[in-house]
This record gives sequence, structure tokens and C-alpha cells, in this order.
Amino acid sequence: YKETLEKVKPHRICVCVRKRPLNKKELAKKEIDVVTIPGNGALLLHEPKQKVDLTKYLENQTFHFDYSFDEDATNDLVYRFTAKPLVKTIFEGGMATCFAYGQTGSGKTHTMGGDFSGKSQNSSKGIYALAAQDVFTLLRQKRYADMDLCPYVTFFEIYNGKVFDLLNKKAKLRVLEDEKQQVNVVGLQEVPVSSVDDVIKMIERGSACRTSGQTFANASSSRSHAVLQVILRRRNFLHGKFSLVDLAGNERGTDISNNDRHTIVETAEINRSLLALKECIRSLGQNSEHIPFRMSKLTQVLRDSFIGENSRTCMIAMISPGMSSCEYTLNTLRYANRCF
Ligand code: ADP
Ligand code: MG
Repeated sequence: YKETLEKVKPHRICVCVRKRPLNKKELAKKEIDVVTIPGNGALLLHEPKQKVDLTKYLENQTFHFDYSFDEDATNDLVYRFTAKPLVKTIFEGGMATCFAYGQTGSGKTHTMGGDFSGKSQNSSKGIYALAAQDVFTLLRQKRYADMDLCPYVTFFEIYNGKVFDLLNKKAKLRVLEDEKQQVNVVGLQEVPVSSVDDVIKMIERGSACRTSGQTFANASSSRSHAVLQVILRRRNFLHGKFSLVDLAGNERGTDISNNDRHTIVETAEINRSLLALKECIRSLGQNSEHIPFRMSKLTQVLRDSFIGENSRTCMIAMISPGMSSCEYTLNTLRYANRCF
């Protein structure tokens, strides 16, 4: 009987893969596409049709996920099957989390933020804006309109195990945990928002702050985790929280040519946090009592997301299709596979 119950438990973890198209530069270099998505969530990493010796990398490998999105998938489509089903969770008093994982250049920011490169007029919306849209649609619905829910936004970055507020000039913030294990990011700006436009303004402000780092080199944006949260409060008490996380690139230290001490420390911290994240997601999926959220700053600040009856998580692993990326791609697919 218990086993049958286990089986009907709602699906709390959704793991997906998104393949981006080959870009102009890759096409010019005659880069070969080694990823095929035949449907039904399957993904095939295969040897190219051209004769190239790839045996040191891979034999044909098949993976299965909840969904696999091919290069024709739009942000809208990806959103509909990943983050959209989680929006309701925060209205029901739960915690929702959506992660974008993958190597630098694989499409994490494209998927989460969309194209916010200063021409927002015709820009394609990413999951941030699409989720915000749905939050405001639900807020206006009769069954939620009477609940007195107030929406807020926070946007921060975790770099080298430290938290910086993207809505407050990258102020460095302390993370405290009280005796009840409640985690608090001290002084984090929680900006009240009253429309989708308000949220988009905050995304633009935070994204600009993220890349124009006065504190660190510009490249730090791919070496840090960015967390956008849409928070619902009811008479000032936390009701629900949706965390949308654009993770740091998962490439390893040895892949980075500038291998100074600073870079090595930075990379070790990223690896540690991504490993911690995987462990926490696995524990959540297994309804485990023990969630190892203290393993990293990232999982510590997201503690709420892993605790509680009504937590749901979605992981979108981004991959580049080219043969020259296939080692990274294989790493990403293996990581995503272990999140189930
Ligand atoms: P990451 O954040 O993982 O480092 P980006 O999101 O910045 O990667 O993507 C790198 C480049 O590839 C950007 O120019 C982006 O616009 C483009 N790109 C990524 N994913 C897609 C996609 N699915 N379709 C079209 N272009 C994409
Ligand atoms: Mg990025």
C-alpha cells in the first residue's frame, strides 16, 4: 500500500534539457551537430555522420528526461512545460524553484532573462518575464484577488560564496541562520511591484548591475549564480516564493586558460555549490528528512525551496550542440540525470 502511495505522490522535481541552435560562428567553423532529440523526452548524443574519430569522447548515448527541447523550441514553449506549472504553487503557499544549468554560452541567460540587451522593445521574453506575467494574471483572478497577496521582487548574485544585492548597487550582504534554521539574507532589498512592467524594470536594473561589475571583472557574470525571486506576502507574512536561478557556468577549472590562484578558488566554489545543489534536489525528490542545504551558500539561501510539503523544483539543463562542446555536454547530461 505504501508503495502505491509513493507512486501517486505529485511530481516535485522536473528535469529537462534544452539544446540551442548552432550559432553563426559555429556554422562558419563548420561545427558538427552531435545532439539529436527524437521526442518523448529522449536525447541522443551521437557520433557525427561525417567520419571523425570520437571514440575518446563517446559512443552513441541516449538519455531520458521529463522533456527535451530541440533547437526550434521557443522560450514560450520551454516556459510552458517548465516554470509555468510551478506558478500556482506559490499561490498555494508553497515554494517553487527553477534552475538554468549548463556551460557558459549554452543559453542559460537567454532562457531565463530573454534578450534584455538594451533593446527591450522587440526583445523576446524569457522565463523571468513570462513567470511575472502569469503571477499578475493569477493575482487578478477572483479566487486569489480576495487573499490580500502582495508581490515583491528580489534579485541577487552569489559569487565566490558571497551574496551581492543586484537591486542595491551590488551591496555585499550577510547570510544568517537563526536557531530555528531560518535563513535570512540581511538587508536584501525586497522591492514591491504592482505590474509586469515593474518586474521587468527590476530585471533590467539587476541585469545591468550584474554585467557592469565595479567589484569584479565583467566575466564574473558567468562565474556567479543570479537569483531572481518573486515573493508573495500576506499581511507581511511570507506566503509563497518563486526563485528563478541562472546558475554559474559548470565548466571546470582546467578548461579555463587563465588558471591563476583566484580562478582556481572561484572554480572550486562553483563546483562545490553545484554539487550541493544536486544533493539537495535529490533529497527533495526522495522526500528525505535530511536536506544538506548547508553545503554551500547557494543552497543555504535557497533553504526554503528544499524544505516543506509544498516545494517544487524544475531544472533546465542547457546544452550546446557542437562537437567541440561534447565533453561539457556529456557532463551536463550526467548532472541532470542525477537530479532525478
Ligand atoms: P549562458 O548564459 O549560458 O552563458 P547565453 O544565454 O548568454 O549563454 O547564450 C549565448 C548566446 O547564444 C547568446 O548570444 C544567446 O542569444 C544565444 N542563444 C542561446 N540560446 C539560444 C536559443 N535557444 N536560440 C537562439 N539563440 C540562443
Ligand atoms: Mg549567462
